[in-house]
Amino acid sequence: MIKCVDWLKNQLYDSIMFKSDDMSIQKYEEIKSKNKDMKYVISWIDEFSNIKTNDTAKEQFKENIKNLENKNLSNIKDIKAIIENHNNNDKNKIKNNFSKNSSISSNNATITIFSSYIIFPSELIDDIEEPSFDIFSLESHISQNTLPCISIYIFNLYGFYSLINYKTFEKFITKITKGYIHSNPYHNDIHAADVTQTCMMFFQNGNINNIINLDKYNLCALFLSCMIHDYKHPGYTNNFLTNSNNDLAIMYNDKSILENFHVAQTFELIYSNEKYNIFKDLNKNEMNTIRKKMINCVLATDMVHHARLYTFCNINITKFAINEGKNVEKIFDNLTEIQIIEKQQDFMDLLIHSSDVSNPTKPFNVYMNWANKVMSEFYRQGDKEKEMNLPVSFLCDRENTNLPKGQIGFIEGVVLPFYMNIIKFFPLLKFTVENCQNNKKLLMKMLEEEEEQKKKEDNKDESNNNNEEKLFNIIHIKSMKNKDENEEDNSSFKDENYININNNNNISNNNNEESNENNNNEKLL
Ligand SMILES: [Zn+2]
Repeated sequence: MIKCVDWLKNQLYDSIMFKSDDMSIQKYEEIKSKNKDMKYVISWIDEFSNIKTNDTAKEQFKENIKNLENKNLSNIKDIKAIIENHNNNDKNKIKNNFSKNSSISSNNATITIFSSYIIFPSELIDDIEEPSFDIFSLESHISQNTLPCISIYIFNLYGFYSLINYKTFEKFITKITKGYIHSNPYHNDIHAADVTQTCMMFFQNGNINNIINLDKYNLCALFLSCMIHDYKHPGYTNNFLTNSNNDLAIMYNDKSILENFHVAQTFELIYSNEKYNIFKDLNKNEMNTIRKKMINCVLATDMVHHARLYTFCNINITKFAINEGKNVEKIFDNLTEIQIIEKQQDFMDLLIHSSDVSNPTKPFNVYMNWANKVMSEFYRQGDKEKEMNLPVSFLCDRENTNLPKGQIGFIEGVVLPFYMNIIKFFPLLKFTVENCQNNKKLLMKMLEEEEEQKKKEDNKDESNNNNEEKLFNIIHIKSMKNKDENEEDNSSFKDENYININNNNNISNNNNEESNENNNNEKLL
């Protein structure tokens, strides 16, 4: 944990010296212009920037840092509490020192410092480890910084800074975030952040590592994989790339095209420039281990692995009679070191894949947000397929795809059976299955309502058709009658019919636009 304290100390010093570094000034201006909601963060930085002009405050600040070093910090919550306490104490002192000549905000909001350049108010991420966390709410406050925010949080939480230099990691994750195509409706940096946060939330709530015992290298590899697992995703599926003879499909021989691409591009970035080389402080062996795990994890996000992972669960559940978390430790009994590594990789694959398909396990409003986004990306692909005369992929035809129906199919066929297995290993994750079942019920209600509505519309059409028929008969009978009565006066015949049609409007009780239109058509007859 000493490393973590060192890192924290550097963060605080960086904040003090914020304006002494050109790069920092640039970033400071950028934060200022982008994040209107973060004015209190900025005012806090302003306060601290002023410290260097006042020796007493600076000394006091150094003393606070020393006190921090003496604490035994075991997790992020301790760090947060200390920073908050530290901020509150210092705020008063600073106020006394600077209240005359600086515009200090009276806002006492607590600030969490996570990095030298990216600063997040702590209240936005208070529930980041909770199943109820709403990633869209975070994104709305720190636009396009969600992936760095969550990633940096996780690096603190698990102490990965003892493996990877924090400044290099910040540059790396910022570059990765920019590599995601933000304009993709679904496969963008927010989805990557969601998968990363979900995986962490599973670990924090599911007691997972007590069972699978991943060491820091494995954990770090898993979370890095989550962060980069859709890096540079073009917003089209593997199927589309194959059917359209895309260069990527040719390069990767139609095999896990995108997944190969995401991980290969990430390592190209790491090797291409020392400033992004997050592994530069590791030895060759450590680096190769993390690289190998990351390749496996990202390739496991291809849906073709779903059946393999589902079977992995089934086989172990049956073999060891696993239920409600009982007997799960037996999976690792009497295994060689290599077998343990392989088994751990299976669980890592399972966790990244389950996080990747976790949308239906979230609260309904969050889930619906994702469902709409994925459908709009699919429809965009369907349009492209039509334009290119390619077969339109499943769920991609906007003309005849129904969102609730498609999602119910996804829940019943993929997500629910999979998670039913997962909770046998990790029963504390039961809330995922409960959310999923609840979401399915709500979707079925939605579907019923849609079908009811459609039925009503069909009936209306039918009734309009019947009315048309009736009206036609009336006109016809009338006209025949008029014809008999006054064969020569054709003009009065037309006027009378016009009145009759309007009267019939009331009889049929159709006052909607459609029926009016039909009546208008009748008028023209
Ligand atoms: Zn994904």
